[in-house]
Amino acid sequence: MKTKIGLLYGGKSAEHQVSMQTALAVIKALNPDKFTIHPIYITEEGRWVKGNELNGPVEELKELAFEQGEALTPTALAPTLFKASDEDAGPFDVIFPLLHGPNGEDGTVQGMLELLNLPYVGNGVLASSAGMDKVIMKNIFAQAGLPQVKYVWFIRSEWKKAEEAAFEKVETEIGYPCFVKPANLGSSVGISKCENREELSAAFEEAFQFDRKIIIEEGVTAREIEAGVMGNDDPDCSVAGEIIPKASFYDYKAKYQDGDTAMMIPAEITDSEYAALKEMAITAFKALDCSGLVRADFFLTKEGQFYINEVNTMPGFTPFSMFPLLWKHSGVEYPELIERLVQLALERHEEKQ
Ligand code: ATP
Ligand code: MG
Ligand code: MG
Ligand code: MG
Repeated sequence: MKTKIGLLYGGKSAEHQVSMQTALAVIKALNPDKFTIHPIYITEEGRWVKGNELNGPVEELKELAFEQGEALTPTALAPTLFKASDEDAGPFDVIFPLLHGPNGEDGTVQGMLELLNLPYVGNGVLASSAGMDKVIMKNIFAQAGLPQVKYVWFIRSEWKKAEEAAFEKVETEIGYPCFVKPANLGSSVGISKCENREELSAAFEEAFQFDRKIIIEEGVTAREIEAGVMGNDDPDCSVAGEIIPKASFYDYKAKYQDGDTAMMIPAEITDSEYAALKEMAITAFKALDCSGLVRADFFLTKEGQFYINEVNTMPGFTPFSMFPLLWKHSGVEYPELIERLVQLALERHEEKQ
């Protein structure tokens, strides 16, 4: 019996395009003797389009889903996804929500899948939503004793009421340079580095376009080291990798447009640095009660101090993205990586029953 995978991709988020690239890569990599793939495309407007079964590689997923698909809202689609009992198995054995950012990586889709009682790849509702909100995530990491840079946050209405006071708070508690970020996003969208009040003011305006909540962090000069964590209750950590951005920081353009950011895998760090990193990555995974996978991102200063920056609960996942490359260098090739994630999803679902 082949495993029937419902692949959710696209999505109503600024990271729509990234998801498209990944979905295509996953479809190409899956062994057709073991899996059948059923694409479910989510348009940028949030419309769900269910396509037919896909067995071979497709060149243009988006068109294909549109041609074959019937347009549905998530709620209209729900009954066709529903798996009522074992005798009455629905069309899917497992859902792969290959979605990044809000409305996909943030627990919303995961909540729907929980209600439908369907196994799904990756993190559950709590880890997904806590991991999407950088303020909540950092508060949890602080509680777990993980080292982090200083941060403050604001919601839009607070800032509108007292702009000057907000800037003063940043200058007293954080100082320059600092990074201003929308609290709930990814792929560096809406993030600015600021050196003075003028830039800070512009950065607030920019970040508040994407979110009602923003976070401001102390800017550090440091190497960027990342690790992949995979598993459920007893997760493994991959080798470490280093991001070497050519721009002033690892912004959206460097990530997806220039493509000239270098990755060094494994990262050149000492054994004791790796041991520290591994422990922090697993602590972060457990602190957020993660399952399946995360990519944990760190800063490493010249003095040898690690700070955790964030985890991504559905990291970039093409064969050329950091997470799959970290696992490749740890002995897990891309098709096997996907199979393991599907297996972990099924195991987690079993445990819950
Ligand atoms: P993604 O989810 O794609 O990894 P993101 O949108 O969640 O990205 P961050 O990883 O928080 O964003 O930040 C993006 C980049 O900005 C980092 O990789 C780093 O280059 C730079 N950066 C962010 N915060 C800081 C900081 N406090 N000090 C120095 N550089 C930073
Ligand atoms: Mg992120
Ligand atoms: Mg992200
Ligand atoms: Mg990051």
